[in-house]
Order: sequence, then structure tokens, then C-alpha cells
Amino acid sequence: MDMQSMYRTLGVSPAVWQFGEDVLAGLKARFEAVDAVAEFNQAKVLSALQKNRVSAACFAATTGYGYDDLGRDTLEKVYADVFHTEAALVRPQITCGTHALATALSANLLPGDELLSPVGAPYDTLEEVIGIRPSRCSLKEYGVRYRQVDLTPEGGFDWEGIRAAINGRTKLVTIQRSKGYATRPTFSVGQIGELIAFIKSVKPGLNVMVDNCYGEFVETVEPSDVGADMVVGSLIKNPGGGLAPIGGYICGSAECVARCAFRLSAPGLGQEVGANLGLLPALYQGLFLAPTVVAGALKGAIFAANAYERLGFRVVPDGRESRHDIIQAVELGSEAAMTAFCHGIQAAAPVDSYVLPEPWPMPGYDSNVIMAAGAFVQGSSIELSADGPIRPPYAVYFQGGLTWYHAKTGILMSLQKLAEAGLVKLETR
Ligand SMILES: *Cc1c(COP(=O)(O)O)cnc(C)c1O
Repeated sequence: MDMQSMYRTLGVSPAVWQFGEDVLAGLKARFEAVDAVAEFNQAKVLSALQKNRVSAACFAATTGYGYDDLGRDTLEKVYADVFHTEAALVRPQITCGTHALATALSANLLPGDELLSPVGAPYDTLEEVIGIRPSRCSLKEYGVRYRQVDLTPEGGFDWEGIRAAINGRTKLVTIQRSKGYATRPTFSVGQIGELIAFIKSVKPGLNVMVDNCYGEFVETVEPSDVGADMVVGSLIKNPGGGLAPIGGYICGSAECVARCAFRLSAPGLGQEVGANLGLLPALYQGLFLAPTVVAGALKGAIFAANAYERLGFRVVPDGRESRHDIIQAVELGSEAAMTAFCHGIQAAAPVDSYVLPEPWPMPGYDSNVIMAAGAFVQGSSIELSADGPIRPPYAVYFQGGLTWYHAKTGILMSLQKLAEAGLVKLETR
């Protein structure tokens, strides 16, 4: 059987397959650059594993208090070496990215302190953590103030606004690397470095935290290489490599991380407690695979951008831009097209491929939301997934793919469903 026939068994027609091949023919140089970053990061992770003498003893399960947990303590040293920080807190007890971020913020801000976001509004779930939307136990309830400086209309930093916002109370600055589901650009590590240098020139001694979600291993450097005092993220995104079933990480200065550990468990206990419950093999192996998994997801995003751009849709980032996270937005212009796109992604999934996603009124959103995900780990967005609110510009946010070939299949299937619904006309060159 040839390749085209193999794809046919998955539901991809010869015309869609050929369209995909035509798009891919122009992407060889882009893909080589992605592979070079993965190769560099693979060496970085491997060398951290070797330096810390990871052995089978590190994979043993612990229960109860988890005192003297060699595997857990070693994994934290490995993370600290990968991110070039003094310390790291990497735990299955950190339940998700929001939990990791909330821990880092609440551990390093005291009543009367001010938190500054110089990059506009933070990720949705942080609004309640900070108290932008009222919530029990928000930072605001504990007397921590919040100040925000929006980006310029062009998506750049408002240098003078940031200078003016930093005051005697400013204690911590939070920078979100990825655009998440906003329409601003994602920042490169280089841009984040410039911003941190500026902030620290205005007020030395300030701590800077970077929300690193979706950004890990997309470049050869991380925000912790350019002055961030803490980098924070989720293990069911990039650094878990698709294998971690739960968890979050905070890498940073010894003092910041020690405070986070006291906040996560209890003052005095810190990193000494927290049994690993047998999850460490997946956390180690997932980190080992993460650089190549991220590369596959990036290729999928680049392929999607170029395929949909060729069909006349607006895509963010565009087909040629350099990438700083794994998210791809495609503005499809109608509910019908969003639904067809998500049906294609779902039909390509290894799990729940027979399910038909439908728009539904998701709590916290003012319009219906459609989601496609058929993942081994529930809610994992390093696995192939797509979602978006049903409202103009009818954008779907597409991310992940544990292998490049699976991401490719998902995009081909999305094109297939749009073509079957008569919503696009594929012309091969
Ligand atoms: C996903 C994400 C979060 C929150 O992570 P959860 O694991 O969903 O709680 C925070 N910030 C950004 C930029 C994210 O992408």
C-alpha cells in the first residue's frame, strides 16, 4: 500500500493529501530549524539527567510523608539544571498550571505588596487568583494589590508606562510568555530578557516571574536564562512530554523556590514532604521526550498556518513568522467552519475518535465554546487539541500533537471535513 492509500484508510482523500504535500514542499527549511532546536534541547536535557546520576533507584514509588525521596529530589535537581536555576519545585501535588502560578504568586507576595503585569491582562484563570474577578482566597483578599500596564496598540511594551507603574510597593512582576488565547503576539525569550533588564534597572531587587506555559523548549533558551527569578508551568503541557499524568513546576532562585515549597506544603516542611506515588518514571521520561514532542507540535502549527493561509484564512502567527509557543490560531469566519475543523481534529484522535464535538455553554464564557480533544491524559494540551469560542472572528486555537505525523493527520482531517462541507476548495499547484 502506498502512502496516499494509507491516509485514505484514515479518511483523508487523495485531493486533501496532495494539497498537504504541496504545502509541505515549501516547509523543509522551517522544519530543519525546528529540528535543530530540538537537537540542542535534547542534549540539554540528557546532560542534566547524566550530571545528576539518574538511576533506577530514582523511579521507586514512595508513600506517606515521602521523606528522603531520592527520585523526587533528583528530578528537581534535573529541572533546575535544564532551566539553569538554583532550585526547582516539581511535584504531582501541583495539580495544574494555574496551581503552580498561584503558588508562586502567593508565596512571594505579602499584604501591602503590589504585583505588576507589564504585558496586559494575564491568562483567564489568573483573574480569580489575583482578584481581578472577585474570588475567595484571592491575592486581593489578602491585601495584595495589582497593577497592569497594557501593551501598545502594536503589541509592544509601553516602556514609559511600565517605568511609571513601578513604585515603592512593587514586589513582583509577572510576565506571560505565550499569548494564550489572547490576540497579542507571543514574546520571544529575547524580548522577555529586554523587558526584565529594563524592569530591574528601574527597581533592582524586584522579583520577576514568567508564566512559561506552552513556551518550554520552543527556543534554545528559557526566560530563566535572561533574568527571570521564577519560571512556572504545567507538566501536562510541554515539559511533561505527553507522559506526565499530572503536575507543575517552579524553577528559580533558591529563596523564591523555598518560599513556594513552604506555601505548597507548610511553613517548616517545604520540599521535605510530598510522596511521589509512583509517578516519577513518567515525569522523567516525559521530560526526556519533551524536546522532540514540542518539535512535532511546532511543525504541526507551522503546517496548519501555511495550509490555512493558502486557503485565504487569517492565521496567527502567520506562515512565515518565528515561533515562541506551540499555539496556532486560525480565523475560520463561521460557526460551521469551526465545527468542521474540530470534527476533523477529533476524528484524527487516538482516543475518542468516534465522538462528535458540539458547541456548549462552558462556565465562565459569554458564548458557546467548541473543543476537540482525544487525549491519553485528560485535558492535556501537549496532545493534539483545538478549541475556541463561537463568536467573531470564529477563531480556533490549535495546539499539540505528540508526534509530527499525528499533528499532520489532524490538520489533514480538519481540511477534509471543511472540504466535505463545501467550505473550502482545494487547489493544488
Ligand atoms: C494553560 C495556561 C495556564 C494555566 O494552566 P492550567 O494547567 O490550565 O491551569 C496559564 N497560563 C498560560 C499562558 C497557559 O497557557
